[in-house]
Amino acid sequence: MADYGKWAGTALRVVVMAVILLVVLAIILTLTRKAAAEEAATVEESGVAVMAEKQYPVQKTEEEWRAILTEEQYQVTRHGGTECAFTGEFWNDHREGVYHCVCCGNPLFASGAKFESGTGWPSYFQPVGPERIDTKTDRSYGMVRTEVLCNRCGAHLGHVFRDGPKPTGMRFCINSVALEWKPELVEPVE
Ligand SMILES: [Zn+2]
Repeated sequence: MADYGKWAGTALRVVVMAVILLVVLAIILTLTRKAAAEEAATVEESGVAVMAEKQYPVQKTEEEWRAILTEEQYQVTRHGGTECAFTGEFWNDHREGVYHCVCCGNPLFASGAKFESGTGWPSYFQPVGPERIDTKTDRSYGMVRTEVLCNRCGAHLGHVFRDGPKPTGMRFCINSVALEWKPELVEPVE
């Protein structure tokens, strides 16, 4: 009888352990799924293209882009290059006006949203309108950054960071070479 009691006690302990293990596993599984769902939501919110390559309204072949862009403009905008800091045309530009996409003329950033970031690249706290730009997760060079693209032609413009000034807290760090300054907002004709 004593043996039976001992055996029953052990069996009970095993059952209790198994139940605890199952509960813990269920909690872990739920949390993992929740985290995955949250990540998916974040990706969706930031407008990151997770599906196939997005089709922008302005489409040109590599040859056509080469024909209308300088070599540096082409490398930065069509192949995700970066101009050297403090070398571009606009990091120290203080004129009033609107900076347009050098590839397709899309008005992107206004001088009113430009600020001194000290980075050597023209920096803005917001685009002319959210529909003017597209964003994508960029995992190059061992970093996870948010790439900023022209939403009309897909030109690589730069990156956006969350350490900008008020009112948005965003810092759009843009290559001068991807931009063309005009005294006022001009909608592209095409
Ligand atoms: Zn463009």
